[in-house]
Amino acid sequence: MSYPWLTTVWQQWQQLLSQDRLHHAMLLISPAGCAGDVLIRQLAKTVLCQNGVEESCGICHSCQLFEAGTHPDCHSISPQDGKAIGVDMVRQCNHWAWETSQLGGKRVVLIEQSEHMGEAAANALLKTLEEPPANCQFILTATELDRLLPTINSRCNKWRLPLPPEQDVKRWVEHKLMQSIKLEAVRLNGNAPLAALAFIEQGQDIRHQHLLAGFHQFLSPPHSGLFSVADSCMKDGHSSLKWLSYFLVDCLKVQQGAEQHLIHCESAPLVRQIAGQLTTVTLLAQIKGLNALIRELESHPGLNDELLISDWLSGFISAT
Ligand SMILES: [Zn+2]
Repeated sequence: MSYPWLTTVWQQWQQLLSQDRLHHAMLLISPAGCAGDVLIRQLAKTVLCQNGVEESCGICHSCQLFEAGTHPDCHSISPQDGKAIGVDMVRQCNHWAWETSQLGGKRVVLIEQSEHMGEAAANALLKTLEEPPANCQFILTATELDRLLPTINSRCNKWRLPLPPEQDVKRWVEHKLMQSIKLEAVRLNGNAPLAALAFIEQGQDIRHQHLLAGFHQFLSPPHSGLFSVADSCMKDGHSSLKWLSYFLVDCLKVQQGAEQHLIHCESAPLVRQIAGQLTTVTLLAQIKGLNALIRELESHPGLNDELLISDWLSGFISAT
């Protein structure tokens, strides 16, 4: 297995495969950036393989088609362009599920990020999950179980991908990059190994530091650089706003004497400095405002983010 944290679940799935006890609808709960897609594709490939039972052979016709991404019995749907999985897509899945296998083996239907399925779409899927067609394997993924409709999740065999401890993630990323990294790079990405790796590889760690430096300058009199901070917040999508949100929560933790739980562990001196500059009232109001802003920008992509971010930032000046 290419990613060590996938091994535990994979070995349990292999046991089910060898005993022919794989549930017809498998659901993997996997946070983003943890390679859950790699694991479900490995399962799909193995289910479809003409030779292997617990491991795909890699050489049969089915394995070759799978590798090429052209397997006629493997279908997948996922949210497209930020839109939910629609009822039409699910009807297509149902259609695939009842089709005859082209290679004479099993059929696989993958539904990724299934929590982005509306109620009508979920209802359309429900009947097929309740009365599963023979030889059709459903494999679903979700990033959080809470967001998935209970009617769907109760009909699946649920598996949660265990995240490795943060020090293991740090070591794994360091091994990949052949360089040492900060622990806060791991914590900022919720311990998700691939997300932490991408954070460094894409230079987000540098932009994160730049953002904090600009933010610090802006909070200190004469409060210059509002537009420069707003500009930094526009980069990296909404990630930079989330970094600021984590940073402000860290400031709050310092004020409340909970320093051992900081996300910004290496940036603790800066956290302490800014925690000393802001009142708890301001911090609480600005954190609340920022989280509302992030939700607003995520649900309405067409909004003028620069204006809204500048407006939120100016809340720090009026408070001082
Ligand atoms: Zn094979």
